Amino acid sequence: MFLNKVVYSCGFGVKNVSRGGRILSAAAARKQHSQAQQPGTPVPPIRPETSCSKTLMDIGTRRIFNEDHDIFRQSVRRFFQEEVVPHHKEWEKAGQVSREVWEKAGEQGLLGVMVPEEHGGIGGDVFSAAITWEEQMYSNCSGPGFALHSDIVMPYIVNYGNKEQIERFIPTMTAGKSIGAIAMTEPGAGSDLQGVRTYAKKDGSDWILNGNKVFITNGWMADVVVVVTVTNREAKTAAHGISLFLVENGMKGFQKGRKLEKIGLKAQDTAELFFEDVRLPASALLGDLNKGFYYLMNELPQERLLIADMAISSCEFMFEETRNYVMQRKAFGKTIAHLQVCMINKTCFQHEKTILYTPARVRNGKDKKYIGGSSRIF
Ligand SMILES: Cc1cc2nc3c(=O)[nH]c(=O)nc-3n(C[C@H](O)[C@H](O)[C@H](O)COP(=O)(O)OP(=O)(O)OC[C@H]3O[C@@H](n4cnc5c(N)ncnc54)[C@H](O)[C@@H]3O)c2cc1C
Repeated sequence: MFLNKVVYSCGFGVKNVSRGGRILSAAAARKQHSQAQQPGTPVPPIRPETSCSKTLMDIGTRRIFNEDHDIFRQSVRRFFQEEVVPHHKEWEKAGQVSREVWEKAGEQGLLGVMVPEEHGGIGGDVFSAAITWEEQMYSNCSGPGFALHSDIVMPYIVNYGNKEQIERFIPTMTAGKSIGAIAMTEPGAGSDLQGVRTYAKKDGSDWILNGNKVFITNGWMADVVVVVTVTNREAKTAAHGISLFLVENGMKGFQKGRKLEKIGLKAQDTAELFFEDVRLPASALLGDLNKGFYYLMNELPQERLLIADMAISSCEFMFEETRNYVMQRKAFGKTIAHLQVCMINKTCFQHEKTILYTPARVRNGKDKKYIGGSSRIF
């Protein structure tokens, strides 16, 4: 169902899947065969690990993926090459991407990939979501904040929101018509999240929100922001008095500050947010009152997982760029690959990714706590 939705929206047929570019060592092939030929187990197609493939970015590699994933990867790769790469330099100057690219990503089924279909998402698995993270890094375009929107913000709404909140936000977020952000960090609260000062005071059934946030990805373009807020200053510890609110663009008293200039991620609209007597209805509370810190502890591991996967994928892209360069650049009558010590061992990336996919496998089994610690290996 997931694949149909994505493949047809991307205009790809199964026949278009490329199987080229594979080099499989005999040892690797035997290993896969012997694993597959256990009595009663179906024989999986042979998939080389990245160390046995022509490039680290080949489609059709790694046993953790299957042929459906390959079809999806091919469509995601094409999207980034056609819809993102040609515009990225211009977006870097602007400090933000276009609204149009969000909507195109939505039309092509690249947002909310692992949000269940019954909640208005695409209904893919964590590996399909990982494909969107990896392919973005393989395109070398860090601008679109798709991963934060789809795999950090949407899970809060899906996992802790009520029916009305899910119906109100998820379908438009999947369509790329509404952009999500999460506002935890403040000038005085980064790693020490319990130090947040943004405060919501009860006023009848409403809440009055005051405070400010910094370094918020998608902050400038956001339509809906999950805001981490103190709701009980007398709680036995700060963690017991924190709640999450859904704050929408255009609410009176909600101001966006400047887009922050950064040394990297230049097309990402990282921004400051200000809340001055923002009146929030009771329906803006996400999940239970004073349970926000627990929700953060539950969801942050997935954030670490995607950051780790994106970082490794970015390294893989850079490795391939470097390899192409040293193979074609000539000096003293030879390519520089033959002149210098340019022997970077690509096996190291394979090992790192294998370690990384262990938590991803566990994530597919929904044990989130384990994945955070494992992702920190990097
Ligand atoms: C590009 C970008 C995008 C971001 N997007 C978002 C976003 O969307 N939403 C959001 O809420 N935040 C976002 N952030 C903020 C990010 O989460 C914080 O930068 C991060 O939590 C660290 O906080 P800090 O910068 O205040 O560093 P600090 O907490 O001040 O830490 C500074 C240094 O001290 C070290 N340190 C801190 N505590 C300890 C300790 N106990 N022991 C040893 N060392 C310690 C840290 O490791 C770090 O090296 C973003 C940041 C960046 C740069």
